[in-house]
Amino acid sequence: MNQFQYVRPSKPKAAIDARAKDQNSQFIAGGTNLLDLMKRGVMNPERLIDISRLPLDKLERQNNTFRIGSMALNATVADDKQVLEKLPLLAQALNAGASAQLRNMATIGGNMLQRTRCPYFYDTALPCNKREPGSGCGALEGYNRMHAIFGFSDKCIAVHPSDMSVALVALDATVLVSGPKGDRRIPFAELHRLPGDMPQKDTTLETGELITAVEVPEGPFTKNVHYLKVRERASYAFALVSVAAALQLENNIIKDARLAMGGVAHKPWRLTEAEKSLVGKPATEATFQAAAAIAMQGAKAFKHNAYKLKLGPNAIVQALKNATNVA
Ligand SMILES: Cc1cc2nc3c(=O)[nH]c(=O)nc-3n(C[C@H](O)[C@H](O)[C@H](O)COP(=O)(O)OP(=O)(O)OC[C@H]3O[C@@H](n4cnc5c(N)ncnc54)[C@H](O)[C@@H]3O)c2cc1C
Ligand code: SF4
Repeated sequence: MNQFQYVRPSKPKAAIDARAKDQNSQFIAGGTNLLDLMKRGVMNPERLIDISRLPLDKLERQNNTFRIGSMALNATVADDKQVLEKLPLLAQALNAGASAQLRNMATIGGNMLQRTRCPYFYDTALPCNKREPGSGCGALEGYNRMHAIFGFSDKCIAVHPSDMSVALVALDATVLVSGPKGDRRIPFAELHRLPGDMPQKDTTLETGELITAVEVPEGPFTKNVHYLKVRERASYAFALVSVAAALQLENNIIKDARLAMGGVAHKPWRLTEAEKSLVGKPATEATFQAAAAIAMQGAKAFKHNAYKLKLGPNAIVQALKNATNVA
């Protein structure tokens, strides 16, 4: 690991100013992703701005909206009684991520900004446009078993690894950001970006912008929800494919629906057309199969991840069945 300077401001403005002044600096929150990347030489900040002492860890509920500070720990939010009651999909997604030890260190802001787990990105001996723009994409013609089936480009086919973010995009969350130019609100679906010609840029954040909180509306999705994560082993592992499913039912007719997938694109992948197809229909396996077929339209596999074309719709159907107790 390279030598680096370290500062630990106590106010958000001081953190933002420090980051904006120094292009070679990085915020560090729980450090569970950034330190790994530094040890491997993938990220080499010359200065770490430790934001762990900023007063941004509150979880508040007002006007049917949860406001969760970016420094709240994954474990704290997942175990919060009100989150369990009103946002069970978020609690399930958080608990599906990483291990108990990691969830006790990982923060809400850090979780959404964790970087891809593409093995070529992690190995500095291999080409990777995300790590080193213009060096090529090792995964495109290489071992691409974990990679995207939606929204990729010929520059990058990586997927976003956060479980929590799949639930947040389904729940129409909003990200609150403070930066050198002031404050702004970003709809969660617009926080992460597709790779296009600039895979090195994971999000729409500008340099120096600090995520201060995420707001999640309560909505009607308290009962019929399920976060399904398909992974290679029962203990901690990243998703091959995951599905966040939430339905509002009245007499078994679907009044409102939310669906999103993880492990399939460079960003959490909201399935808007499939959601529309569910509304007004009875909660049956046939309805879920039809929605899954719509969800998969446009999916395209690479040499080693064709299994996702089959696993994806099966996971959607299973998540919807689990959410509704349809046998
Ligand atoms: C073995 C292992 C298994 C894992 N399995 C899973 C899994 O199954 N599912 C899953 O979702 N995750 C998984 N993770 C990832 C883990 O959840 C993330 O490492 C963690 O959430 C990152 O949070 P952090 O606070 O430690 O972030 P850090 O490592 O401190 O930061 C990550 C990035 O976010 C930036 N950042 C952090 N906070 C802010 C902020 N408020 N504003 C602006 N920028 C910020 C940092 O600059 C850095 O670039 C796993 C990690 C490990 C090591
Ligand atoms: S898929 Fe993206 S992250 Fe992986 S090697 Fe290609 S450019 Fe790098």
